Amino acid sequence: MRTDRNIPYFSLNYVNAVIEAEIKSAFAEVFKNNWYILGNYLSEFEKSYAIYNDTRFCTGVGNGLDALHICLRALNAGPGEEIIVPSNTYIATWLAVSYTGATIVPVEPRPDTYNIDPQNIEAAITPRTKAIIPVHLYGQSCQMDEIMAIAKDRGIYVIEDNAQAHGARYNGKKTGSFGNANATSFYPTKNLGALGDGGAITTDDPEIDRIVKLIRNYGSAVKYQNDMIGLNSRLDEIQASFLSVKLNYLEGFTRERKKIADIYNRGLSGVPGLTTPHVAPLSEHVYHVYAIKTKQRDELQQYLESKGIGLMIHYPKPPHLQAAYRHLGFEKGDFSIAEALADSCLSLPLYPGLKDDDAAYIVECIQAFYA
Ligand SMILES: *Cc1c(COP(=O)(O)O)cnc(C)c1O
Repeated sequence: MRTDRNIPYFSLNYVNAVIEAEIKSAFAEVFKNNWYILGNYLSEFEKSYAIYNDTRFCTGVGNGLDALHICLRALNAGPGEEIIVPSNTYIATWLAVSYTGATIVPVEPRPDTYNIDPQNIEAAITPRTKAIIPVHLYGQSCQMDEIMAIAKDRGIYVIEDNAQAHGARYNGKKTGSFGNANATSFYPTKNLGALGDGGAITTDDPEIDRIVKLIRNYGSAVKYQNDMIGLNSRLDEIQASFLSVKLNYLEGFTRERKKIADIYNRGLSGVPGLTTPHVAPLSEHVYHVYAIKTKQRDELQQYLESKGIGLMIHYPKPPHLQAAYRHLGFEKGDFSIAEALADSCLSLPLYPGLKDDDAAYIVECIQAFYA
């Protein structure tokens, strides 16, 4: 086993090499076109992404957090209403709710998939529940049929947070196409990443589409006519042109992610003391993050780092224990599944361009640690 390796947790070197020529010509086109905001490159990308995502409409916005916020605003969420969010998520899902003044109702995940548990959603519903925001965490689709059924029965909205799961399916249907309005992010490290910030909202509802397009642009459809108090959150022409290039490669890059995940799954699933990702029936995992779970997380992390392997923790502290949410009065122990995950999960390198040989080396190192 070679030990002089240096495997970063994440790298865009390979992806960027694949797309370099097309990105440069896209840049040259936009530069020559000399129109940078709300133009043809954005509408082209919105059309392509809507088709890719199996939704009627897509609206490009500034980032994933704004996408979530705008979805909530479009549904008129506000004070006195409750929004169900995962206890185990990136904090953006919670922040979007905070902006509206609605009440955050955290719900624990399934201990096996780490995704929000439909049974716990049902138990958390009250007459004030306005919407549920399932997050397809790490790239695995939530149980959308169950969640949609719970919501429909009670007239509750669903907003999918699809920032980590571009192209994943539940029961054959794309994530980001179930909810009333769905948010995604094109942050550079996401499975579909821009070369800067970006995000989008997908929906089948023409009225929601009309409103989110108003909100992202100062509440205005016609220049100098403002119908509502909107934001300024637009996906710019340059990023839209880059995303159109990268969208063509997404399926191939997802296959590469799955191939690397396979190497990890085969090499690690029998290792005692370690849990590999569990994919639920009907769910698809597009491996934005490959998170293993182990009681010896910190020791394993140190050991692997000493072997030249980059790692991350998603996420080291759940939102309810963050200083930003101290005012909500949550305490340690309130969401014990999310807390246990924060203490035991470890994300391995996984990205297009990671060599099979490097993935095999990582497997060997982990096996050696437990031997
Ligand atoms: C990345 C991410 C976001 C936020 O996206 P930005 O574009 O960084 O604002 C929201 N939710 C989840 C689950 C994410 O992973």
